[in-house]
Amino acid sequence: MSGIKCDRQVLSKTGSVCPVCLRKIDAFRVAEGGRVWLEKTCAEHGDFRVEIWGGHVPYQEWNRPKKPSSPVNPAAAVERGCPYDCGLCPDHRQHSCCVLLEVTDRCNLRCPICFASSGDAAADPPICDLMDTLADLLTRGGPVNIQLSGGEPTVRGDLPEIIARGKAMGHPFFQLNTNGLRLAQEPAYARALADAGLDCVFLQFDGVSDDVYRRIRGRDLMSQKVTAIEHCQEAGIGVVLVPTLCAGVNTGEIGGMIDFAIDHITAVRGIHFQPMAYMGRYPEGAPERRFTLSHLLYEIEKQTDGKMKMSHFSPGGAENAYCSFSSSYFVGEDGSLRAKTDPASCSCGCGSSVPVAADRARQARAYVANAWRGAGKLRKISSEKIKSPLLQGSARFSGTESLDRFLDNCHRRQLAVSAMAFMDAWNLDLDRLRDCYIHVAEGRRLIPFCAFNLSSQDGKTLYRP
Ligand SMILES: [Zn+2]
Repeated sequence: MSGIKCDRQVLSKTGSVCPVCLRKIDAFRVAEGGRVWLEKTCAEHGDFRVEIWGGHVPYQEWNRPKKPSSPVNPAAAVERGCPYDCGLCPDHRQHSCCVLLEVTDRCNLRCPICFASSGDAAADPPICDLMDTLADLLTRGGPVNIQLSGGEPTVRGDLPEIIARGKAMGHPFFQLNTNGLRLAQEPAYARALADAGLDCVFLQFDGVSDDVYRRIRGRDLMSQKVTAIEHCQEAGIGVVLVPTLCAGVNTGEIGGMIDFAIDHITAVRGIHFQPMAYMGRYPEGAPERRFTLSHLLYEIEKQTDGKMKMSHFSPGGAENAYCSFSSSYFVGEDGSLRAKTDPASCSCGCGSSVPVAADRARQARAYVANAWRGAGKLRKISSEKIKSPLLQGSARFSGTESLDRFLDNCHRRQLAVSAMAFMDAWNLDLDRLRDCYIHVAEGRRLIPFCAFNLSSQDGKTLYRP
């Protein structure tokens, strides 16, 4: 009997699709060789197998119970079954937390890797259509946190107007997903977005060396990232660094990116890692071995010399446990880190009791908004104008102004570290998909991010036009 056979154990069954024809097929989570794999067979296109969890964190211990909740006012009926009825459909198991609003397909980069295959000169949706979508969200469980996405949203001239009108409508938190080029090139642009009400910039940030940017984005970009961050800080907009992790290309810079976030803690509110998913445009075939959340947890501990530990991190509370993790740190003046020890108090995730999922989505929305918002936004709501950019030193304070400064300082020195593992046609797990709370607004429909961007081996999609 071979060692491989001895070691093999089928853990559980789920649904997936064939990566060639996108037909729905059964899939099995299989432990073997210290890893967990998703295995499936299409009657026409054969067997597929892909790694979904490395050996560094026990797969089944990572799970945590999650009570399902039906979406409010679902826009689609159950007809063909998941994943073909997204809208959401009544079988979905989570409300929206973040809703992506794609404001353009155009882009000012042409990255070798792009989940949206952006860059073609398609016409932008008119602002009236975008406003209709935002208004419709209010009838489907909203207000929600809005992520302005694309394409590269800053190529639109009316982006500040979209933000201002969306905020006036009642959506509390606007985040901009951007490569940062325009923010770097136009010093006044960040101020214009801040004045319109932008809360947070989700900055594409794949490494700390130009070698990484050349390989992933096709050109040197590091100095522009730094300038974009400076301009956001001046405008009081929180920045979250968002690395797309490509195994062997930038996974060696995880520690360097965390160090960069710590060094820029007064501007950077968080770092949000996204292991690469094979959707849209990517350079070569999807591999069987993957860089999973389990690998990422291990590398974070290793590359920070244990300052951040795997045990500091917990799965998200509102979404499926195998989709994400997060932790939060207070960064001392000397760069030292203190993990927040009570996750229930600072994140949507993993409290010991499990409230209904609708409540989890609400908590997740509030957590994301608070953790990622710029310090300038806090100052606007405090009772006194704070002139000093940063309170140095101890926690002692007296009087209203000092209290405000103290709170301001606490917020500015807090770093959220998180990750989200998007799925592609190879590792799609319909149990995870049904728990998804990151939805793309497409007209009046809300489509889970991984279903919207799902693309077959030869580029066929289920939802993305
Ligand atoms: Zn097939």
